[in-house]
Amino acid sequence: MRKLSIQDLDLPEQRVFMRVDFNVPIKDGRVTDATRIEAALPTIRYALERHAKVILASHLGRPKGQRRSELSLAPVAETLSALLGQSVLFMPDCVGDDVKAAVQALSGGEVALLENLRFHPGEEKNDEAFSRRLAELAPLYVNDAFGTAHRAHASTVGITRFVRQAAAGLLMQRELEYLSRALNPDHPYVLILGGAKVSDKIPVIQNLLKLADAILIGGAMAYTFLKAQGHDVGASLVEDDQLDLARRLLTEAQEGGVHLELPVDHVIARLEDEASPVQVVTGNIPAGFAGVDIGPQTIDRYRSRIASARLVVWNGPMGIFERPPFDRGTVAIARAVADCPGITIIGGGDSVAAVRQAGVADRLTHVSTGGGATLEFLAGVELPGVAALTDKR
Ligand code: AMP
Repeated sequence: MRKLSIQDLDLPEQRVFMRVDFNVPIKDGRVTDATRIEAALPTIRYALERHAKVILASHLGRPKGQRRSELSLAPVAETLSALLGQSVLFMPDCVGDDVKAAVQALSGGEVALLENLRFHPGEEKNDEAFSRRLAELAPLYVNDAFGTAHRAHASTVGITRFVRQAAAGLLMQRELEYLSRALNPDHPYVLILGGAKVSDKIPVIQNLLKLADAILIGGAMAYTFLKAQGHDVGASLVEDDQLDLARRLLTEAQEGGVHLELPVDHVIARLEDEASPVQVVTGNIPAGFAGVDIGPQTIDRYRSRIASARLVVWNGPMGIFERPPFDRGTVAIARAVADCPGITIIGGGDSVAAVRQAGVADRLTHVSTGGGATLEFLAGVELPGVAALTDKR
């Protein structure tokens, strides 16, 4: 990696400002899913074992620059303390004299958690004065929050200009290492894209079209492509303003010799009628019905492409997987990806929920923690939170 990593820092007895992603679901003052906290533990432990004084900072939800008690990180301090097996000093704010004094009193191996960064409007504005106030807390900076690296905020970008060194944490490093493979791929390289919005994923297709050997499309986005080819798609979700672009991508794929595959059969339903029987059609979708999942022939075709891949990158479910039985296609693809002996990377968001639902998350090479950040990385965009880190000499 071109950027400094936490392993390059001289940590003992030093204060480290560590930007983590503790944007976790909280209900009645309790953390209901600690996955993101657990994901940051290796980096936190790494620093604590080297006797650093660790100052953790994160956003939680969208308080829009206002203090909102239901978006306090206080419950996270409790969960983190239980996971680390040591006390976590919770600060009622993330800047100010009291916070400064408290972090200066930390000993090596101790950890503090700051209050929600977004209680201050300066955070999302990447405000210089606020960035300086954050930087006053520590000479060293570590960013382990890959999921927010696509946003230029004070705690991800601004602060880096005022600290001595800014380095990637272990989780950030792992994300960059694996996701970089998607841009420097082994072949055959199979890209699987699904989910609702084509417009979100078009930049990814554009960037990877020249690198992938096959692009397998499922989910609602398939219907925009199918409609662009002149098929009847019934009441399926379509982005009509993307039809021209879809047509262009289909042509580009053909000219470039990339197998851009669309579903050949579909699970269809009348969505407004919960009791409507599930049917499978090949080809056109009749009026009044929506495509809600890929059909069995499509699963077979996609499966055989996946089986021979040396690299698989997947983002977005193949159907409305939250509503069984419309999860069958997604689960079948998740299993096929898990069975693939090559490198398998799942890119964030709903795909992660889907591979968990299929029970195969631990059989994949890398499950990305980023949603938007992962898509932007795959689209070839330089992430501001990564660009801001100190270059390796
Ligand atoms: P995205 O955030 O773009 O990855 O989209 C994820 C969402 O796409 C999930 O909530 C799925 O339910 C939804 N989705 C996938 N396939 C379909 C489909 N055929 N029709 C409607 N929604 C779908």
